[in-house]
Amino acid sequence: MTYDITVIGSGPGGYVAAIRCAQLGFKTALIEKYNTLGGTCLNVGCIPSKALLDSTEHYHNAQTTFAEHGIKLTGVKADLGQMIKRKGEVVSQTTQGIDFLMKKNKIDVLQGLGSFVDKNTIKISGEKEQTITTDKVIIATGSKPSSLPFIKLDKKRVITSTEALQLKEIPKHLVIIGGGVIGLELGSVYARLGAKVSVVEYMDSLIPTMDTTMGRELKKVLKKLGFEYYLKHKVTEVKGTAKTVTVKAENTKGETVEIKGDYCLVAVGRKPYTEGLGLENIGIATDKAGRIEVDGQLQTNVPNIYAIGDVIKGAMLAHKAEEEGVFVAETIAGQKPHIHYNLIPAVVYTWPEVAAVGYTEQQLKEQGRAYKTGSFPYRALGRARASMDIEGLVKVLADKETDEILGVHIIGARAADMIASAVTAMEYRASAEDVARMSHAHPTYMEAVKEACLAATENRAIHM
Ligand code: FAD
Ligand code: NAD
Repeated sequence: MTYDITVIGSGPGGYVAAIRCAQLGFKTALIEKYNTLGGTCLNVGCIPSKALLDSTEHYHNAQTTFAEHGIKLTGVKADLGQMIKRKGEVVSQTTQGIDFLMKKNKIDVLQGLGSFVDKNTIKISGEKEQTITTDKVIIATGSKPSSLPFIKLDKKRVITSTEALQLKEIPKHLVIIGGGVIGLELGSVYARLGAKVSVVEYMDSLIPTMDTTMGRELKKVLKKLGFEYYLKHKVTEVKGTAKTVTVKAENTKGETVEIKGDYCLVAVGRKPYTEGLGLENIGIATDKAGRIEVDGQLQTNVPNIYAIGDVIKGAMLAHKAEEEGVFVAETIAGQKPHIHYNLIPAVVYTWPEVAAVGYTEQQLKEQGRAYKTGSFPYRALGRARASMDIEGLVKVLADKETDEILGVHIIGARAADMIASAVTAMEYRASAEDVARMSHAHPTYMEAVKEACLAATENRAIHM
């Protein structure tokens, strides 16, 4: 078979790229080595983790806040098996949705491992082996969990996120290496179910790449959930036996702590995945971190081949991969798309959620940019008190002279959905006063964004 465009990898980058290619009239193939489409995000990432986060949040609320709402329950029990089963159903409904979209858009799905024979020929090794020719290729092969050189991942006691999404029992004591997004999201799942959770983090704060206020606030809230922390600790040894794990970590003074648990989740980041792709057969360049090198058009050093998503530089986020998929399809079609990378939002789906867009305060300081800050606490919102979600705040950073919004950082209920309005405002280069003068429905959490903008404008928040 011969195609105009072949996409390798069916994650959010790959399947979205394939759909946009088909919409633009290209004869398109999508190659995926697994039996189900959707990649990391749909199968072992975004979707299953959110399914477990939602189930455990209901369980947690049933135990902690329902009584005050006047709902009396007795004998509330967590059924982990049912939670995992429901998660599996959510995943299969979602991946089947991608099968439907492929058929609807007349995209040929070829199951098997795709590898380059030459720059226009790809061999697919699956149940049946086949070779196709193609004019252009979009590589969207994503990423895999990374680890530390001295850790032996036995995938039973010393595990990655993939295994943590399908445990058969609630850990008694889960030791997590890495206080980033995966560690805190999956740590929340098991802490809500009653596990003791210890986080060992190399840096001096949780979610260290986000604004420091967010890490500080999240640390306080998760502590109430039972998290304990070993910040500024470097892991030096991890040992797993049939039923236990022992993690040794060293602090900045050279002192060693030993943490004993029954599971250890290694969540120290992810690495680009290019194994078996045959990049060496066509001379595609990768950087030191193993990422495929691309230019501003997301084109590799082989001109008919593009790469997107987790396998290239930038944030490892599903929506970043999706934007890049659309970008490449439109670029190949001769259009002039644009991605504003600084306005790709980041969300941590703990409760309360953390969401951010634009620059952090640390980044503005490093740039030497004159800025002003406005903050507003959730506890001052009527809406937050009505729902008993009073923890959190909105922090707005704006240019000191022009008042243009440079960053919005939210920790609080529904932050994940609220951040979209900050993205909209910043895409249109709104000033803090622009947002502050717009009507926001009452009572809503979004009023905290308006108030934080008022605070940034001239320290004129109304309800504080
Ligand atoms: P992937 O989704 O990794 O897909 C790549 C696909 O390519 C895979 O299906 C793979 O099998 C296939 N493949 C690889 N090599 C070949 C080959 N040679 N031939 C054929 N097929 C191949 N991001 C968010 O934005 N929000 C979240 O809430 C979120 N939660 C996450 C939770 C967890 C636990 C994890 C692990 C990740 C999460 N992420 C989240 C990150 C998100 O999953 C990734 O950023 C996203 O999946 C990247 O998309 P991608 O298309 O680049 O690659
Ligand atoms: P991460 O980069 O978010 O966090 C890894 C953490 O591990 C960092 O804080 C880092 O300082 C720490 N660390 C690294 N080496 C260490 C060591 N030796 N000892 C102790 N700590 C160490 O990575 P992650 O949590 O594994 O997630 C991987 C990727 O998946 C991220 O890039 C993220 O964007 C994506 N993801 C996104 C979401 C979301 O959008 N909600 C959810 C899950 C995963």
